[in-house]
Amino acid sequence: MDANKYHAAMVTARRDFCSDLWMLRLRLPAPFPFQPGQYATLAVEDAEGVHERAYSIVSSPGEAGPPEAELEFFFELVPQGELTPRLYRLQVGDTVHVRRSAKGLFVLDRKRGHRQHLLVATVTGVAPYVSMLRSWVRDPAWAPPETRIVLIDAGSRSWEFGYADELRALAARLPGVEVVLSVSRPWEDAGWTGERGRAEDLVRKYADAAGFKGGETSAYLCGHPQMIENAKGILSRCGFSKPDIHEEIYFVLPKTGAQAVTPAVAGARSE
Ligand SMILES: Cc1cc2nc3c(=O)[nH]c(=O)nc-3n(C[C@H](O)[C@H](O)[C@H](O)COP(=O)(O)OP(=O)(O)OC[C@H]3O[C@@H](n4cnc5c(N)ncnc54)[C@H](O)[C@@H]3O)c2cc1C
Repeated sequence: MDANKYHAAMVTARRDFCSDLWMLRLRLPAPFPFQPGQYATLAVEDAEGVHERAYSIVSSPGEAGPPEAELEFFFELVPQGELTPRLYRLQVGDTVHVRRSAKGLFVLDRKRGHRQHLLVATVTGVAPYVSMLRSWVRDPAWAPPETRIVLIDAGSRSWEFGYADELRALAARLPGVEVVLSVSRPWEDAGWTGERGRAEDLVRKYADAAGFKGGETSAYLCGHPQMIENAKGILSRCGFSKPDIHEEIYFVLPKTGAQAVTPAVAGARSE
């Protein structure tokens, strides 16, 4: 791998949340500046070539001081995918490559002067929001005074919430933050007593309850493309203008034959 383009990072921790969701922490040999919400490009090289994809950074900047950097990622396995099966095989001590600069514009919008922020995620789409809340706890000046955040984190079943405990703990320390965890397939998760429904079904309910109105609130949608499409429609009908809706689409659904191409994956996480 070209050392001018990539850092060689070492896996320092791995935690499996369920059979197809896990996190890795990577130690980079040099500082890696980024803003909460941005992504890094991870690459694995093998006999078939270099395989690389974008991944939102879960950690907050500076979790390991110079001269190193420590980055955390939350992955979903796409069984027929190019990179995730390779990332899934990584264990502590293994090497993965990271493109040298962070990218992305999916950061807390400070330009529009809104103090209200509605963050909506499906499964791994919560990653940028964990980074934001970790950053806010580490530095109370990270968000302007009186900032309020409602975070809706939705999965099919509760074991997909890799960061549920941490999000609850962060919300307990940040008075302006409300975290809503919702399960869309409660019939497959008998012990779940929390909110039910898909992310987009809850956007209106929690925006209204918090008094978050279009024109005064920035909305952020991250993860599954269908959720983003649906939630955008709902928010537009509630008076949110285009510049107030930020989106980070994790993948593109095949145009035709979606069922045939990604049955287990697209179906499992889209409802
Ligand atoms: C800015 C950005 C940030 C991202 N952050 C994350 C992250 O934090 N965590 C994470 O796991 N992924 C994230 N992704 C998605 C990631 O880049 C890869 O697309 C994903 O991991 C699949 O890679 P793959 O090579 O295994 O599958 P691919 O070979 O790229 O895809 C194979 C097929 O699976 C479909 N597909 C891909 N991903 C999914 C999915 N999750 N569910 C259903 N179908 C899918 C594709 O449409 C394609 O048809 C992010 C994407 C972007 C653009």
